[in-house]
Amino acid sequence: MNNNENNHSIHEFDYSLICEYFSSIDRQGPGSDASTLQALSFIDPLKPKARIADLGCGTGSSAILLAKVTDAEVTALDLFPDFLDKLTHRAAKEGVANKIHPIVGSMDALPFEKESFDVIWSEGAIYNIGFEHGLREWHKYIKPGGYVAISEVVWLTDERPDEIEQFWQDAYAEIGTISNKVAQIQRCGYRPVAAFVLPDDCWITNYYIPQRQAQEMFLNKYPNNEVAANLVANQRHEAELYSKYKAHYGYVFFIAQKVV
Ligand code: SAH
Repeated sequence: MNNNENNHSIHEFDYSLICEYFSSIDRQGPGSDASTLQALSFIDPLKPKARIADLGCGTGSSAILLAKVTDAEVTALDLFPDFLDKLTHRAAKEGVANKIHPIVGSMDALPFEKESFDVIWSEGAIYNIGFEHGLREWHKYIKPGGYVAISEVVWLTDERPDEIEQFWQDAYAEIGTISNKVAQIQRCGYRPVAAFVLPDDCWITNYYIPQRQAQEMFLNKYPNNEVAANLVANQRHEAELYSKYKAHYGYVFFIAQKVV
């Protein structure tokens, strides 16, 4: 705990810069409409007024698509109000604002009643609280027979070069193989339904390329700013690592049904 005023304001500034950077792009993690629809195809058709929670929804790409293609009500939760403002704006433009309920909150302290959702959706976000912890935590909010649809970074090979092994150990030590993740799913009271690897375009076309323009604008707006420079450098480094080592890791969409 640090009570120093000055540090506190620096910290707030970091946050607002990070939010500004990621608000300027439509996705805050790898994904695509096609992958969202593919994941949805493994779930029994939802009844009118079914409820979906999209946790760590960011600026809303998946929440908006789910609202468009299902009859469900979508609760979209994220820690950052700026992302939800953008989501609200996009939802209005797409004509689905009345089906989406944005909520500022944390995915490890959900403000919901037990068994209130038919589906818990979460793309590229559960890592913030850990895959297994999230699966356990969210279980109680799902109706009996309801589903989770979650994308998560995984190893796709058994042996990895040191550079990428080290990068992910530092960034997210809970990264595992598909079989590790499926075992976790079963351990947490779900029946695995499907798992598929997100194709390259989810990373490159939809995540890293849109950032290039954002990076130029950001560096022009904040010249000589160390936080901004580091943020951009880190994102560029991550994109280079992906190009170099994408044979070894990727995002996988896991779809599973609550059994107990
Ligand atoms: N699902 C979106 C965003 C993925 S990035 C997409 O695919 O584009 C991860 C998101 O999780 C960010 O929007 C971040 O603000 C949010 N997040 C991080 N920690 C969180 C927490 N504890 N509770 C809720 N959201 C969180």
